[in-house]
Amino acid sequence: MIHFNLRCAKDHEFEAWFQSSDAFDRQLRSQRVTCPSCGDHKVVKAPMAPAVAAQSRRPEPGAVKLRQALTELRDKVEKTCDYVGDDFPDEARKIHYGEAEARGIYGEATPAEASELVDEGVNVAPLPWLRRPDS
Ligand SMILES: [Zn+2]
Repeated sequence: MIHFNLRCAKDHEFEAWFQSSDAFDRQLRSQRVTCPSCGDHKVVKAPMAPAVAAQSRRPEPGAVKLRQALTELRDKVEKTCDYVGDDFPDEARKIHYGEAEARGIYGEATPAEASELVDEGVNVAPLPWLRRPDS
């Protein structure tokens, strides 16, 4: 038996077992392989993704450490910096040009806003926030 991840023309992904790769090809040609979601016969083999899924179920020790480090970084920033939300790009600019009190701030910026700030020489860094387990 051989296992395939399949995808229909409407991007539904599903899994199916076949006796062999040849059996799959035969069934596909005779339109006996159908998408369980929409009944579509236009089915292709999807790229193999299960390895990634298996990894996320069982995090490696390195990933756990990284997660801890990120959580600590987040706690530190939240304790020592002002949250300015969507005003982040404006506020970062004001601090950079001396129009606002110099302090650590954090908030939201779109990638475009962030790269504008970097272009202006404003010292910003993206923070890889993790969702808290309790939120
Ligand atoms: Zn489908």
